[in-house]
Amino acid sequence: MLYASTNRQTPEVNLAEALLQGQAPDKGLYLPVTIPSFEPDELSSLCGRPYTEVAAAVLGKFTTDTFPVARLRQMCQNAYDFDVPIERVDSQRYVMRLDRGPTASFKDFAGRMMGQMFGVLRRDASGRLVILTATSGDTGSAIAHAFYRIPKIEVMVLFPPAEVSNRQRKQMTTLGENITAVAVDGKFDDCQALVKQAFSDTTLGRIRLTSANSINIGRLLPQIVYYVYASLQLVRGEEPIIISVPSGNFGNMMGALLASRMGVPVEKIVVSTNANDEVPRFFTTGCYEKIVPSRSCISNAMNVGHPSNFARVVALFGGWMDEAGNVREMPDMDRMKKELFAVSITDDETRSTIQRAWKTQNLLLEPHGAVGWLGLERYLEENPSDSKAVSVETASPAKFPEEIERLLGFSPEVPFSLSEIERKEEHYLTMPADYGAFHELLLKTYGA
Ligand SMILES: *Cc1c(COP(=O)(O)O)cnc(C)c1O
Repeated sequence: MLYASTNRQTPEVNLAEALLQGQAPDKGLYLPVTIPSFEPDELSSLCGRPYTEVAAAVLGKFTTDTFPVARLRQMCQNAYDFDVPIERVDSQRYVMRLDRGPTASFKDFAGRMMGQMFGVLRRDASGRLVILTATSGDTGSAIAHAFYRIPKIEVMVLFPPAEVSNRQRKQMTTLGENITAVAVDGKFDDCQALVKQAFSDTTLGRIRLTSANSINIGRLLPQIVYYVYASLQLVRGEEPIIISVPSGNFGNMMGALLASRMGVPVEKIVVSTNANDEVPRFFTTGCYEKIVPSRSCISNAMNVGHPSNFARVVALFGGWMDEAGNVREMPDMDRMKKELFAVSITDDETRSTIQRAWKTQNLLLEPHGAVGWLGLERYLEENPSDSKAVSVETASPAKFPEEIERLLGFSPEVPFSLSEIERKEEHYLTMPADYGAFHELLLKTYGA
């Protein structure tokens, strides 16, 4: 199976190359040249199987040239040792909780599998690979946990201490071993600039650097699995379902779109954004305008004014968007609107949804999940349907104790993964936002 860049200027590569490169050399994003589909009886044969087996069956369609089946099964078992609960809200609607991984966000699904994939790819390689990542919170901790103790891989996470919560910092600083956390005296943008400069620095000698950011194809494929799993659980893979995804960089909804293209019956994918509404606007006006700077909303992991994965969505509908966000060829808008329903939700609406869902349905949501839930309600108001519907909850409410306390009057229960770090010792380095200092730190840490 080969992978092609959305910018069409790079030769097609195999999965291992696409994984290790991250972004294609032409600055595009890799997508499989042809999307594999399920055999007629394959979905029903997966009914009732545990998550790890569904994962191996789905991922196997993309990875057979790279990971033998038995190995892939083992990787899925290593990665997915947590629950994927689907909570019934009423006879039609469900919430799938993707917050049971080690960092209590859905990013664990992709991060953990990527850790496994990189681990296997590096097994017979010599030397070590350094994964550099800048974070404003969630991504850094998911990556750090995902690559923790993977042999021949080192991770360095740069974070702005004033912009991450205590809990987020502790998720990165209490691991140790192959994980190095660095507090940069500056903002998230400074961290990102340092990482970017390091990638183009030719004077780092033998240090091999790579990234694990959200455009890596390895972050995308694992996100198909839980939509297949939801279809199996709700309708045995037999009838169309409605899927609602709270969206920022549009990686999560790409998983739903690929599941649908693989043959999972889907009536509609609802993509809900916060006030960063560049995509819902594109749906109504046909004109794509990024939002710079992005708007700050309480669903902060979705404060994205130019979603990096949207180029992939455009490509799947036959269009071309370049890395700067210019639509070079229009996608098939009719088909796009037929498969997707885009909606933007304000912070006020997000807050009242959290209150209403709790009061009327005993449904506990945090801000990201509430954006997805209200998006689903909007869709169903405008398009009455009998199909089952699932909205995804992308983080644990325990990650937003102040907001929940203020709206609902209690603090959500803290899962063990988040509470156990309170007792662990923190270790991190500090550094000015200065490339000279970063260069030296890299040489000192990994140069030998
Ligand atoms: C990253 C994130 C999102 C947005 O997901 P995308 O794939 O970027 O659209 C939503 N919710 C939470 C909690 C996240 O961490």
